[in-house]
Amino acid sequence: MNIPQDYHMHSTFSEDGSSNPEKMCLQAIKLGIPEIGFTEHWDVGPYEKHPRFFQPELWYAELLRLRQVFTGQLTIRAGIEVAEPHLYPRETAEVLARVPFDYVLGSVHFVGSHFMFDQAYFRTQTPDSAYQAYFTEVERLLQTADLDVLSHLDVPVRTAKPIFGYDPARYEAQVRRILQVVIDRNLALDVNAAGLRKTAQNLMPDPLILKWYADMGGERLTLGSDAHQADQVGLHLQAALDQIRLAGLTHITRFELRQARLIPI
Ligand SMILES: [Zn+2]
Ligand SMILES: [Zn+2]
Repeated sequence: MNIPQDYHMHSTFSEDGSSNPEKMCLQAIKLGIPEIGFTEHWDVGPYEKHPRFFQPELWYAELLRLRQVFTGQLTIRAGIEVAEPHLYPRETAEVLARVPFDYVLGSVHFVGSHFMFDQAYFRTQTPDSAYQAYFTEVERLLQTADLDVLSHLDVPVRTAKPIFGYDPARYEAQVRRILQVVIDRNLALDVNAAGLRKTAQNLMPDPLILKWYADMGGERLTLGSDAHQADQVGLHLQAALDQIRLAGLTHITRFELRQARLIPI
């Protein structure tokens, strides 16, 4: 089956993106992906290297232009990836009011001052201390943050798994609490394939977590490559879809102006 969407993409409007939005659109069209969403980083925390890099108005004008250029070929959604939205509610509300976003990804990239892609941090930790601290921060995020989609639920795996492994079953109770809040709040999970192009070779969330989600009645998810350059658009999303189906999940979620619609896969 064709890849129905790529809902997690960063262009040069994110400080770490290296392709312009038009190139990423062309790649999606080449791959036959009918719908994409740009989700530029909105980072305002004290440990960020380039806080407030994203310029929503300029970006949105470019998306409007590209929607015209690719009419009939590609649906282009305006998403955003907000880091630790629960810690910065005012800054989050401010950015969300600037242009009409279709959906909001909420992410934990920092636990305190520790960056979840920092190998040196994980070398000072045990698996339990690192994963539990991270999941606890995700629980805090879910209590209050304004979001539609929970990003890359077990993201430390990308950096930590090559250092000390990853056994999601050890954190089942905590992760199930997270999944229950996702379900109760009608949020979606970002099924994020970036971990499949890293040494960790791990889909996020881990396929076991997707299985728990399905067993608990969870339905809403979005598919994302977390591309930071054009040749990563759609990458490994076929493998992600296979895992989604294996877990017993049957739909993906589309968003327009923060309204969700479930689409069978
Ligand atoms: Zn992220
Ligand atoms: Zn991202």
